[in-house]
Amino acid sequence: MTTPNSPRTALVTGAGSRRGIGRATAHALAADGYAVAVLDLDKEAAEEAARDVAARHGVQTLALAADVTDADAVDAAVAQAEAALPPIGALVNNAGITSPVPFLAVSPAEWDRIFDVNVRGGFLVTQRVAAGMAERGFGRIVFLSSVSAERGGGVFGGVAYSAAKAGLLGFARALARELGPSGVTVNCVAPGLIDTDITQGKLDEARKAAMVADIPVRRIGGVADVADVIAFLTRPGSGYVTGATYDVNGGSHIH
Ligand code: NAD
Repeated sequence: MTTPNSPRTALVTGAGSRRGIGRATAHALAADGYAVAVLDLDKEAAEEAARDVAARHGVQTLALAADVTDADAVDAAVAQAEAALPPIGALVNNAGITSPVPFLAVSPAEWDRIFDVNVRGGFLVTQRVAAGMAERGFGRIVFLSSVSAERGGGVFGGVAYSAAKAGLLGFARALARELGPSGVTVNCVAPGLIDTDITQGKLDEARKAAMVADIPVRRIGGVADVADVIAFLTRPGSGYVTGATYDVNGGSHIH
């Protein structure tokens, strides 16, 4: 049985990326006192992230190399975290990929690629972790959706990405109902355009400038803008917020 002050672990998927939202989130959650398990497809990046977070915040960390679409790899990685770190209290389903392919050119393989990482990955990791959270009576689960899900693309991601990220909104809301009685909250964060490497340099500067002109706060978002909101949602004191979607988009989509 864990008490409110027992140490807990936050598992952040896709936290390897040096300039990514996951990395900033790992730092923010460590600053809040969570031990941090960094899970990423890229083993070296995960290891570097784990060292980085431990050095800056003095918390326990662990690097886990796994593909979120691979059930066995997810199972093994979570088992490793459970063996080495305090009980998992927070899960941030951040690993994700985008695709700008126009709908009429999307192949079934491309569609599956986007859904596999963004939706199946979220399913596999969440199901593996949620059972223990429910058993212990405490959990904070956050999904990274996107403004693309709410406004219908229009940033970088196309139909497949928008559909996958919209799928996560329904996923989180339904799961919030199921897990609420067990002390587990489930929420989504929907970022707008954030300065990371996810577009792999494929979003041109002219397009970016045009987008910024249309954002009420007149800038591209930073990873800390998103990580702060995720940190709020993973705090023990945020237990009355569940099934919600937090927009972090500078006002680019107001609804
Ligand atoms: P990023 O590309 O910087 O980082 C993504 C990380 O996920 C990488 O470290 C990558 O190795 C990892 N990853 C990819 N596939 C994986 C897999 N199969 N298994 C394990 N790890 C995997 O991306 P980011 O911009 O930091 O985005 C993080 C999340 O936020 C994503 O879900 C993304 O869709 C979402 N998002 C980003 C933006 C934005 O503008 N950057 C906007 C809205 C939503």
